[in-house]
Amino acid sequence: EMVARLGGDEFVALTTGPGTDRTVDELAERIMNALVTPISIDGRDLLVRGSLGIVEGPAGERTAAEVLRSADITMYRAKSAGGNRSELADPEADARAITRHGLTTALPTALERGEFFIEYQPLVHLGDGSVRGAEALVRWLHPQHGVLGPDRFIPLAEHTGLIVPLGRWVLEESIRQARAWRVRHGGQDAGPLRINVNLSPCQLSHPGLVQDTVDILERAGVTPDALCLEVTESALIGADDDLLKPLRRLAEMGVDIALDDFGTGYSNLANLRRLPVSVLKLDRSFTQGMQQFPADPVDLKIVEGIVTLAHSLDLAVTVEGVETGAQAEQLRVLGCDTAQGWYYARPGPPERLHDLALADAKG
Ligand code: C2E
Ligand code: CA
Ligand code: CA
Repeated sequence: EMVARLGGDEFVALTTGPGTDRTVDELAERIMNALVTPISIDGRDLLVRGSLGIVEGPAGERTAAEVLRSADITMYRAKSAGGNRSELADPEADARAITRHGLTTALPTALERGEFFIEYQPLVHLGDGSVRGAEALVRWLHPQHGVLGPDRFIPLAEHTGLIVPLGRWVLEESIRQARAWRVRHGGQDAGPLRINVNLSPCQLSHPGLVQDTVDILERAGVTPDALCLEVTESALIGADDDLLKPLRRLAEMGVDIALDDFGTGYSNLANLRRLPVSVLKLDRSFTQGMQQFPADPVDLKIVEGIVTLAHSLDLAVTVEGVETGAQAEQLRVLGCDTAQGWYYARPGPPERLHDLALADAKG
């Protein structure tokens, strides 16, 4: 009945009347079929693909703007599911998209207003049980939604580029914290407490990374060996030398580079020697295999193999997600160097780390 072009490559088709629940499907099929035939330009056949969002329901239940928004969200769902398909509107998916959108637009002001904070989770030496440092894990204290975990907003920040200033803030704040621990907790036998900070792929390719890091360390009066940057394996897969250069520079300065979530991606072992990493962080999935008793023998063999290989390449091995004493003991026997997980402590405020480290020193 009506077809309109909203702008760019977006169109809206409206059909009304009884039985639209059937007619919309037919309409969608007709549109998709119309696009199937390649368009010939200058003797070349060009394929056109379409993504459709279908909203169907009684007229007057929602305003025109609400219907259009739902159609738009649903169309983007079809697109991100691979495109060349149609999807049916779903109130829950709409609500999620609207929340995501709201969070995305609120991110810049949240950073300005200081709504982010960092929790620290201790890294424990498996040999003697002493606290060696902590991983910085960012959270967002949202005025309406309460505390949000990084999984809720890091992907959004990566998408919009806000991850660069946010990541810089995390680095600055946690290095300041590392400095405070050093001051209060100097003269520990095992050396000063170290800080692990996560880096997103976009931060890796940002030209300011090395200089920013150097400046932040210098301003805080913290030596580079107190810092470990965690980069996921998938971010470095197929990385060319240009991408690795900043990491190499940092590694040469004495910053440790850890390969995070190791074992979840391709785990290209041959690639390891090319990367400027000094620590492997074994993903939680391996530790999970050790939760039952007896532990999964295949998991044990895999971990043993990775540890042997890592050590022969001069890499230290950290394990994540240790939840029981039995797991910790198992991982110690397998030769892992450092562990992290709820068994030792959940992520928490910085004072807690200080107390834990102090308890070690006394014990
Ligand atoms: P990750 O680097 O793998 O961090 C470890 C995650 O495992 C954390 O989740 C931690 O709370 C959780 N965890 C620790 N011990 C245990 C355990 O024993 N059992 C279980 N089940 N879970 C455990 P969190 O804090 O939700 O962080 C999720 C991810 O968000 C992190 O995964 C990291 O990739 C990302 N992230 C956190 N902070 C930052 C940041 O400042 N920048 C960037 N780029 N990413 C960050
Ligand atoms: Ca990490
Ligand atoms: Ca991890």
